Amino acid sequence: MKLIFEMGGPGRGCDLIPDCKAPDCTVGLAQREKKPMLPEVSETEISRHYTELAKQAYGVNDGFYPLGSCTMKYNPKINDQAASLADFTQIHPLQAAADVQGCLEVIGEIEKALCAITGMDACTLQPAAGAHGEFTGLLVIKAYHVSRRDQKRTKIIVPDSAHGTNPASAAMAGFDVVNIPSDANGCVDLEALRAAVGENTAGLMLTNPNTVGLFDPNIAEITSIVHEAGGLCYYDGANLNAIMGIARPGDMGFDVMHLNLHKTFSTPHGGGGPGSGPVACKKFLQEFLPGIRAVKGADGYEMTRGSQTVGNVHGFYGNFLVVVRALCYIMTLGREGIPEAAEGAVLNANYMMHQLKPYYQMAYDHTCMHEFVMTLQREKHERNVSALDIAKALLDHGIHPPTMYFPLIVHEALMVEPTETESRETLDEAVKIFIEVMKQSEETPERMHEYPLAAPIGRPDEVAAARKPVVRYGRE
Ligand SMILES: *Cc1c(COP(=O)(O)O)cnc(C)c1O
Repeated sequence: MKLIFEMGGPGRGCDLIPDCKAPDCTVGLAQREKKPMLPEVSETEISRHYTELAKQAYGVNDGFYPLGSCTMKYNPKINDQAASLADFTQIHPLQAAADVQGCLEVIGEIEKALCAITGMDACTLQPAAGAHGEFTGLLVIKAYHVSRRDQKRTKIIVPDSAHGTNPASAAMAGFDVVNIPSDANGCVDLEALRAAVGENTAGLMLTNPNTVGLFDPNIAEITSIVHEAGGLCYYDGANLNAIMGIARPGDMGFDVMHLNLHKTFSTPHGGGGPGSGPVACKKFLQEFLPGIRAVKGADGYEMTRGSQTVGNVHGFYGNFLVVVRALCYIMTLGREGIPEAAEGAVLNANYMMHQLKPYYQMAYDHTCMHEFVMTLQREKHERNVSALDIAKALLDHGIHPPTMYFPLIVHEALMVEPTETESRETLDEAVKIFIEVMKQSEETPERMHEYPLAAPIGRPDEVAAARKPVVRYGRE
């Protein structure tokens, strides 16, 4: 595909932008020596250029997207419609509370809804992503210990199966990270946890269901071991899809957590669009939260701030329109629909896992939650076919590959999360393709390194693409 700079020609243009009526103003400004290097293209060329770009992208609206740990589910368009209402988009964050009662009601209502879903008591909407939420939650934990003059608590315990953001956030918040191993089922090793806690323990970070898609049966014991040692429990709630409306982190003994509205609660993601990672906590931590909370008084909603707040972690109210979408989604599904969605997610994952089991080796042979992990270790060893080869071959069949090489504790991992918004027909079709690709790898293993053949590009040098991206077009 041509770059836009390689299209068009001198003097060509279009009238998408009206002529500027303002007089030229050059006083005091340095003059360019050369004309700016802008593409000169007709409206047709622009239109085709962007249409072509859109065609080369792949999203949930194109097809199956089982990217584990990311919850790439369909986001109902009505939520976008709500978020684009002028009453939400045409306001200014410095407007007085009396002027923006509707927006404050959104903030107040979503706090209630998220607390009901998580079993927490208060919530801030400021963090803009999951990792940002983790960082915020850890600052809250730190502020709590400092407020009790318990400064020796400098260690955060993180299991080796954790999402990479967990240890990174803990380090960024100034803690030392203590890694503990998982047991044979991918769950927390209780003995290792008991050995790790102590008077230096600030807290534990955990996700449950964990990153291999299993619900830890010892969860109550885990949180009480940490509490008895004087630490707090942080729940990574980035993927709430398996348990929302069914089990609550607050009831499992967690004190503070984040949720990813851009995974579970209907904001499209991938490509780095605005996200939202609200942090919810128990009452004893609420005064440490950043940002404002909207509290209903006699004269409507008022903004309140925590008396011991850790300070702002984002401007104003966070990514507010993502919050509008989430509230719309939660209200559409309601008390019955939320657990139904979770059940659908778990059912779909188990359905696919069982269909694939005779062909792919499962990393853990248990009933899974919203996702499951396969290992290509055997194939790698026997015929040099890796998880990457399988993933690349899937591209040629028009489905987005699963998450690869995560979690780190599983070798040659492929992690599949079908989500509840896929039909049985889609799952059956995907299963057929997975099986076909596995058969292909048995018959012609050496060809597996050549895929994809039908995608816009083959296999880029991923390290170079990430470390040395070419993001500017050079014309001497
Ligand atoms: C996605 C995810 C995160 C990080 O969320 P971001 O919004 O990408 O920062 C953290 N933990 C888990 C388990 C996740 O799946």
